[in-house]
Amino acid sequence: MKELVLTLADEAATVAFGAALADTCDKACIVYLLGDLGAGKTTFSRGFLQALGHQGNVKSPTYTLVEPYELDKFTVYHFDLYRLADPEELEFMGIRDYFQPDTICLVEWPQRGTGMFPQADLTLHFSYYEQGRRVELSAATEQGESMLTRLSEMHHVMLQGK
Ligand code: ADP
Ligand code: MG
Repeated sequence: MKELVLTLADEAATVAFGAALADTCDKACIVYLLGDLGAGKTTFSRGFLQALGHQGNVKSPTYTLVEPYELDKFTVYHFDLYRLADPEELEFMGIRDYFQPDTICLVEWPQRGTGMFPQADLTLHFSYYEQGRRVELSAATEQGESMLTRLSEMHHVMLQGK
């Protein structure tokens, strides 16, 4: 499956969606998170991280650009590049070291770092929709596709479209 669209009625649905996607993830991957401010990227990330064992809150690492989470099965790096002035800054922080065979990268505002990040396995595009949110998922690799297939087989997310 290459594409999937979900509606997320409220904040809890966004958190549950994050948890569901984490459940589909059995190896390292890169997930790009697109959408306006407030569209739900960090809320999604909280659900994702908590499902992998993180306890506590998750804040966008707006000033530090990246926050590492050492969890049971994976290390997850949560990036927020909103304030990145120049993609070159990523070079100085040793960006290449972040992409390892056992690391998951969640990247908010990846378009600010164009050219510095590997291709995403999955891109999630969040948008405002009625009182809630909508997310369009698209897979760019085989691994991304298998994550989407697994997600679509789960019952605890409401599926719309294919
Ligand atoms: P971003 O990281 O995209 O800027 P955040 O996740 O920080 O967005 O903020 C999203 C805001 O919208 C939060 O206040 C959250 O409670 C709310 N929110 C998240 N998901 C939904 C949803 N599906 N419906 C309504 N509100 C939501
Ligand atoms: Mg955010």
